[in-house]
Amino acid sequence: MGLTGIQILQMLPKTNCKECGFPTCLAFAMKVAAGQADIATCPHVSEEVKEKISEASAPPIRTIKLGSGDHIVTIGGETVLFRHEKRFDNPPPVGILLNTSMSPEEIAERIAKFKKYRWERVGVELRPEVMALEDNTHDQEAFVSLTKKIRQEVPEAVLVLMSKEKDLLAKGAEACGEHKALLYAATMENYKEMAELAKGTGFPLAVRGNSIGEAARIAEELLKMGLKDLVLDTGPQGVRELYEDQVIMRRAAIKKRYKPLGFPSITFPYRFTDNIVLEYMIASVLVAKYAGMIVLSDFRGDLLFPLLVERMNIFTDPQRPLVVEEGIYPLNGPDENAPVLVTCNFALTYFIVSGEIEGSRVPSWLLIKDTEGLSVLTAWAAGKFGADTIAEFVKKCGIAEKVKHRKLIIPGYLAGIKGELEEELPDWEIIIGPREASGLPAFLKEWKAA
Ligand code: SF4
Repeated sequence: MGLTGIQILQMLPKTNCKECGFPTCLAFAMKVAAGQADIATCPHVSEEVKEKISEASAPPIRTIKLGSGDHIVTIGGETVLFRHEKRFDNPPPVGILLNTSMSPEEIAERIAKFKKYRWERVGVELRPEVMALEDNTHDQEAFVSLTKKIRQEVPEAVLVLMSKEKDLLAKGAEACGEHKALLYAATMENYKEMAELAKGTGFPLAVRGNSIGEAARIAEELLKMGLKDLVLDTGPQGVRELYEDQVIMRRAAIKKRYKPLGFPSITFPYRFTDNIVLEYMIASVLVAKYAGMIVLSDFRGDLLFPLLVERMNIFTDPQRPLVVEEGIYPLNGPDENAPVLVTCNFALTYFIVSGEIEGSRVPSWLLIKDTEGLSVLTAWAAGKFGADTIAEFVKKCGIAEKVKHRKLIIPGYLAGIKGELEEELPDWEIIIGPREASGLPAFLKEWKAA
């Protein structure tokens, strides 16, 4: 287990000087223990203490960053077995496989798919992040040229360089420049030379064992050699073993603080089936339990989209609803005669309502009231979306200066507060909108300002 706030406090100067940005050493210690502040922010602790605290408060699964510039993915860093205990922090990046035996047309097709498959859902962009480049022809020139091509044409793709040959991987790494690719992989036979390469480049190194035990033994040796950024492939022989290995790794790292397994995993579902639908089903299990990264044989939009939605849902903090900012949202270029609608700031509500309004093409003002992420009826029941709070928001948000009419459309589910709201907003006429967002287009087309 990591250090508690009190244990960390014992190692701080306890002068409450505030230089770390916190009012007291205790407040700072609690944040460090929760992983929300960096011990290095306190200028008054020795290097020795910093190292001790950093080590003890680090997540049991090492956090590893891959990529460069604006295109960094973080893997690992998990601290719990179940998301209801806290949350899962870093979604497993999803990637596509390319290898040196593929034709230029096939490579071009895969690049096109990587660029094409991206969707927006509740304000979040869903897209794949990784390209795994495999040398399967022992052709250094082809491998380097593929690496350069991908870096040039798809700079947003984070790379995994895959080869059994150290020299070939070294050339690929050289072609990556500043871009921190994952080197795949150190085996029982070659881990010493792969360790030298990883040290020289500063790139994270993947371990490939023939079993979870062998992967742990290789990781242990690499740890002794001073390597810290490792990613594990336990070399499972079947789907069941693949699943079990992920669970064993997570439990061993979190419950036992067993260092050789305290690293994110890399998984290849296509190694267990030729059926792409089954491959994506395996990937969906791995999203939930507990892959650090998933490399797929190919992308298919109808399979990739649900996988990415699942990933987003599992890695959403269950204790914090998705919200949008309180404010006035102009949709379809509204003017002073455009209708004014009000709703809550639960992200799903916002995106459904705004989507329907945009689809209607009727210029409108959408007022989003902060309800702490609660949906309309829940917020009303909790006293966060009643007549008094809506009225206060309408008065202060500035909508009165943007329109010359005084008509406010409220969600149909709040019909019961119409009278009360008219008392709170005597200058406004309160209009009851449809109960469901799907009714908005027809409703808005009937709307008249005058
Ligand atoms: S900077 Fe260090 S000594 Fe000062 S309040 Fe923060 S933790 Fe305490």
